Amino acid sequence: MADRIPGFAGAPDSNPEIAPYWQACAEGRFLIRACDACGRAHWYPRARCPHCFGDRTDWREATGRGTIYSFSHVARAEVPYVMAYVTLADGPTMMTNIVDCDPASVRIGQAVHVVFKPTQGGPPVPMFTPD
Ligand SMILES: [Zn+2]
Repeated sequence: MADRIPGFAGAPDSNPEIAPYWQACAEGRFLIRACDACGRAHWYPRARCPHCFGDRTDWREATGRGTIYSFSHVARAEVPYVMAYVTLADGPTMMTNIVDCDPASVRIGQAVHVVFKPTQGGPPVPMFTPD
């Protein structure tokens, strides 16, 4: 049986707009959505660019690297976990979990990289771990 992800119930929701993202996660690839008109990436993935409202957006292979913008150690959960905002090297900031480390060692500004964690009945979910 796959590990349960603390603070994450079941499998992620999907829809046609985001299906390629979850397919890539299943292949161990981390995609981000970026705009051909203004050149900026955004999170979460959308067909229309939230920066310039252009509709020429496309999937790009993300670096999978980032730094912790802020975090919260959820110590009172059944299985404690660290939820965080990570600013990706590609530009946007995303909400995620910091995993595979001692929660007491997590720091703002810490360099992290993506890891994929299994879900129950769905694609793996990208999370981050300190370098
Ligand atoms: Zn744009």
